[in-house]
Amino acid sequence: MFVLDTSAFLHGKPHLLKGYTTSSVLSEVKSLEGEATLWVVGETVQVEDPLPYFIKRVERFLREVGETRLSEADVSVLALALQKKLPLLTDDYNLQNVAVQMGVEVRGVLFGEVKRVLRFEWVCEGCGRKYRPGTKTCPVCGGRVRPRPLRTR
Ligand SMILES: [Zn+2]
Repeated sequence: MFVLDTSAFLHGKPHLLKGYTTSSVLSEVKSLEGEATLWVVGETVQVEDPLPYFIKRVERFLREVGETRLSEADVSVLALALQKKLPLLTDDYNLQNVAVQMGVEVRGVLFGEVKRVLRFEWVCEGCGRKYRPGTKTCPVCGGRVRPRPLRTR
């Protein structure tokens, strides 16, 4: 069982299309593909929208890490994966990266797994010391501690 994003419907093989998706993903899929890939809905895929609590958790995390590229549909499936503790099925790298950071298990549709994961380090803006994720204030200089993407290739 998975939580399915738009790419899962566009590229996913039928045996992968099992689990849950959200109403915003369904609208995206309909506008891109028509009804063709939606035969699974109500059969092996159920439509459920996440509770506001989980949407807020995702939105807060996106603000913290400065991620602005996710669509409303992306946010909805990530929140649903958090809520249901199910792996997220997506080929969207930005979405995969954020999901992994939030502790959500991710599977790629075309390649089977995540190839590249963007990691963050938490750095004091004042003195440059590094801290555990979630640290807000530097105990040494009092500066603000913010997440910064580590560049990997
Ligand atoms: Zn500092």
